[in-house]
Amino acid sequence: MAIAAGAGSRTLEQCFEAVRARIGAAERAAGRSPGSVRLLAVTKTHSAALVRAAAMLGQRAFGENYLQEALPKLDALAALGLQWHFIGALQANKTRAVAEHFAWVHTVDRDRIARRLSEQRPATQAPLEVCIEVNVSGEASKAGVEPAALDALSDYVAGLPRLKLRGLMTLPEPSTDTALQRAGFRRLADLLARQNARGHTLDTLSMGTTGDLEAAIHEGATIVRVGTALFGPRVR
Ligand SMILES: *Cc1c(COP(=O)(O)O)cnc(C)c1O
Repeated sequence: MAIAAGAGSRTLEQCFEAVRARIGAAERAAGRSPGSVRLLAVTKTHSAALVRAAAMLGQRAFGENYLQEALPKLDALAALGLQWHFIGALQANKTRAVAEHFAWVHTVDRDRIARRLSEQRPATQAPLEVCIEVNVSGEASKAGVEPAALDALSDYVAGLPRLKLRGLMTLPEPSTDTALQRAGFRRLADLLARQNARGHTLDTLSMGTTGDLEAAIHEGATIVRVGTALFGPRVR
């Protein structure tokens, strides 16, 4: 039955145990304290029933990429009090629903989107927690702000009343070369340090997925975003 399935022939519970073990081992290997890395379970293309099964295993934070797909799931699971993170590409005509329904947005990459999210965040809710997405792999990827434009965007976002700027996010080009993986993540960590040296108080590095979470944790990730290792291949 689909809701019992995790990645491969393992049960969902075994998949969560395996990913938590990977995170724990990477924390130890990097000399970081246990529990310093949060697991964001990425559920794009997967059913509300599967999210519910993961919630029963104790997972609270979930990431979704596509608004149309996410809203019915959020609605179906509203009673569970889960924490929803928006991690997909953001278009201006989607910001209102994101501002109303999500606790976090990881993909802020321009002024206009940030301003709309702030204006549209309901006054009855806590400020929206946001990360700025940075393009650390240059030409190869189009998503995210260029590092050279980050100072200006950080200052702008930090000044918006209904957003709380928490940190930086990246999704580098996939690579199996550990040194390359680390170089991209180190770049994001250096950019975070730079923003803090400029007076910001950012505490979040959202980086690392199924294929490269160890490299990300080595370089300081505080949130890893994992889909495939928990839930198997995406279903469409
Ligand atoms: C899909 C996705 C992930 C999860 O990737 P996996 O390789 O399945 O772990 C993480 N971050 C973002 C932004 C994604 O779109």
